[in-house]
Amino acid sequence: MTQKEQSSSSLRQVLAILTFEERRQLGMLTPLVVMTALLETAGVASIVPFLALLSDPLVVTTNPAARFIYKSLGFGSTQQFFFAVGVGVLLLLTVGNTVSAVTNWLLLRFSWMRGHTLSSRLLRGYLRQPYEYFLSHNSADLGKNILAEVQSVVTGVIVQAVQLVARLVVVVLVSLSLFLIDPFMALGIITVFGGVYGGIYFGVRRHVTLTGRERTVVNQQRFKVAAESLAGVKELKLYGLEDVVVDQFQRPSKRFAELQASNAIVGQSPRYALETIAFGGVLIMVLHLLHSGRSLDQVLPVVGLYAFAAYRMLPGLQIIFAGVNALRFNLGALEILHRDLVSKEAGTPTPEPVAVPFARALALDGIGFTYAGVEVPTLRDVSLTIHPGEWVAFVGPTGAGKSTLIDLLLGLLEPTHGRMSADGMPLVDEAHRRGWQRHTAYVPQQIFLVDDTVAANICFGVAAANVDRERMMQAARVAQIAEFIETEMPDGYQTAIGERGVRLSGGQRQRLGIARALYRRPSLLVLDEATSALDNNTEARFFAALRAELANVAVVSIAHRLSTTRDFHRIFVLERGRIVDEGTFNDLQERSPHFAVQEVA
Ligand code: ADP
Repeated sequence: MTQKEQSSSSLRQVLAILTFEERRQLGMLTPLVVMTALLETAGVASIVPFLALLSDPLVVTTNPAARFIYKSLGFGSTQQFFFAVGVGVLLLLTVGNTVSAVTNWLLLRFSWMRGHTLSSRLLRGYLRQPYEYFLSHNSADLGKNILAEVQSVVTGVIVQAVQLVARLVVVVLVSLSLFLIDPFMALGIITVFGGVYGGIYFGVRRHVTLTGRERTVVNQQRFKVAAESLAGVKELKLYGLEDVVVDQFQRPSKRFAELQASNAIVGQSPRYALETIAFGGVLIMVLHLLHSGRSLDQVLPVVGLYAFAAYRMLPGLQIIFAGVNALRFNLGALEILHRDLVSKEAGTPTPEPVAVPFARALALDGIGFTYAGVEVPTLRDVSLTIHPGEWVAFVGPTGAGKSTLIDLLLGLLEPTHGRMSADGMPLVDEAHRRGWQRHTAYVPQQIFLVDDTVAANICFGVAAANVDRERMMQAARVAQIAEFIETEMPDGYQTAIGERGVRLSGGQRQRLGIARALYRRPSLLVLDEATSALDNNTEARFFAALRAELANVAVVSIAHRLSTTRDFHRIFVLERGRIVDEGTFNDLQERSPHFAVQEVA
């Protein structure tokens, strides 16, 4: 890709990640930017007549324009006229700088608000992905894109691009006015300034692209190590791996800092060279002009103009250079954002759930499932029905496909073969599966708790004002956790449980997870090893309460402890993705070899 193609495709990517409304706002800001540039240029240019007037008051009579203004506005003395012109120049500078400040404020606000909207849209885009997407994407990486890469794109691309355009307009206009006043000098200045910046840019751009790409890689490593080490802190401490992990973190982290610093230095360095050159240039110019026999009053306006032009142009050029440099450096982040935002948002938005009945049966008919990128099917030809109030258990060796089957039952995965239907209504698409999910609740092996109160964890996602207290207490009662909450927790349901509930026992966490599932009043309750941390008595009391209070709820359970399945209506034995046997606990104990072996284990 050539230089030009690359920058135009980056520009397209920037525009593509903005919404229509945001592009419109950007479009409205552009005239403001041009106006700022015009006013700034006028401010610079106005200094020339003022200095000319000061150094040669006779201009009032010799210059036709000055004479006309002097006469028509009826000034009494040249002193008065000087004063008025001075005030005029000052006014122009003040207005110019005020408009400039306001424009800058609007541009900065626009750019930083994109940090907010882009990260929100990215999070929504990710969450819209089917469950399967998250099986093959690292969550630390997605988190990094939402927070860090959006930030890089805002500070390194959007803010820079907007400032760059604004400054470009100023620099072009100041150059043009210099040209009109003294083309020869203007050419000299532009050649020197442009030459230094252009030269440095072409010298470093390859390096900047490479360091930019490396930055995204080490940033990813940094986030991954930080997230993983904190998630697995227990084993980490047990095995004394603190230093190992810190070391693993330090390598990408240090490299990240080095790359950022090196890029910032590249962005800033020409400034110092240019300031030296510019100052030296003005000095040489004064000496040259004086040497060539001109008087100070002839020299002063020209020098004033160049000093002021340099004052306007140098920061502008510097911002343009730093901007182009930052843009290149952050292209990697822009590409990630463009890839994920455009493709994830382009996907069909999450459809509204369709009302799905479940009065008679959920039927699986010849269901097969193969994970993406895997050759062998995980499930083959699974057919079964589940009726309201019926209790069904899946048993079988690890890797048999039990969890996958549950994910299918929950409508999280889409079968690759066969079909699912509820009361005869086929669950063909996302809208139907979402409708079906309204009937379901799920208790995973690992309960995910939020750093909030017991009530907020049971009534997960329900605003505190909308909590149905009766329902919450019933859920806690059936889950066998009500007594503990009410008698042993200091503030009852309002007790804060701390981050991930680390102060709770495994059994308490599990029962909170069960209560959360029951609060949803499901028609189908899926238990994935959900009672493994309960003692036999508590488990039995839970099942008895479930039967007594929620008789219509169908239960699907994966259980390793086979005694758990004793009261279940039907037990399916899975092996290598197929149902190999089916029956009651007693049936299977007599005839299933797998069942017998497991019972011993
Ligand atoms: P079980 O719950 O019975 O232990 P699983 O349903 O978890 O079995 O897994 C069944 C098979 O599917 C295993 O061989 C496992 O390797 C494979 N599998 C599970 N999840 C994925 C995945 N996300 N991608 C690819 N293969 C998977």
